Amino acid sequence: MASQNKCIALDLGGTKLLIGIVTDAGEILESRSYPSPLAGGGQQTEIAAYMRSCLRDFLSGHPANGAGCIGAGVVGRVDGARGLWLEIEPGRCETVELARFLEDACGLPCRVDNDVRCALRAERALGHGKGLDDFIYINIGTGIASAIVSGGRVITGGSFNAGETGHIAVDISGGVQCPCGRKGCAEAIASGSGLNRRARELRPQYPNSRLEIPKEAPCRAQDIFRLAREGDALCARLAQDAQRAAAALIENLAWTLDPKAIVLGGGIVAEPWMYAEIIKRLSKNSMRFTTGVYLTSLDPRCAGLIGAAMCGFDLP
Ligand SMILES: [Zn+2]
Repeated sequence: MASQNKCIALDLGGTKLLIGIVTDAGEILESRSYPSPLAGGGQQTEIAAYMRSCLRDFLSGHPANGAGCIGAGVVGRVDGARGLWLEIEPGRCETVELARFLEDACGLPCRVDNDVRCALRAERALGHGKGLDDFIYINIGTGIASAIVSGGRVITGGSFNAGETGHIAVDISGGVQCPCGRKGCAEAIASGSGLNRRARELRPQYPNSRLEIPKEAPCRAQDIFRLAREGDALCARLAQDAQRAAAALIENLAWTLDPKAIVLGGGIVAEPWMYAEIIKRLSKNSMRFTTGVYLTSLDPRCAGLIGAAMCGFDLP
């Protein structure tokens, strides 16, 4: 049996910080979940210090176990080569040397990257992107973002902001306003946050709709999709617009980047009906060089952690 390398991986998401020890074959040997500080509004320095203290706590209970590196995936703009976390979102951009911070906790070399690019690495190492030099991962969840391998290289862009494909306009008929300032962005129509905003906006036009609009929480995409299939006119409109927007985004990326495969992940496409309807809407001509548009085969509960480990192993 081949000798296994191990990595200490950290996956910082919106609700939890997952820390674990992961092999280069993607096996999670142990892991622990901590609350995520992201929603608290803090800047990177504070959050990096929290990640370091959680890492120390994890290591006190789980010895590094022969791990030779650290990998971390975080939201926002990341300069992986210099180990810098540049921005969480516009307005939260207090640059921090995240890799050095985490190296300090246990003296192992650390690599950091954006969470979607980490998911891409997991797909490329273990999923439908295996062995492919031209391949795109698109996450369609609360928001929409992509990560791209082109010619064997992970594309980061000049300001580490490549792949923010949620703000590619897919509807130029002038309709749906996106918080980014543009109209017709894919994210405004096909993401969980976009569906929630549109449901609230359009609900008064559909007095007979059965969709409940919660006061405190967002509308659940699953409820919209279920009611759409039961014939609710508002929900059918929202779901069909989302399917068209997602399909248009996929086609735009296929025309731009000519990938061999596209892998979809995230809560919106985890709904099998949505995935099937999006695929149905793809034009053969647009997709003629793409061998497949796959639903991720990785478990969404641990794909981020595995991706962070693949980043630590420095797998492109
Ligand atoms: Zn936008």
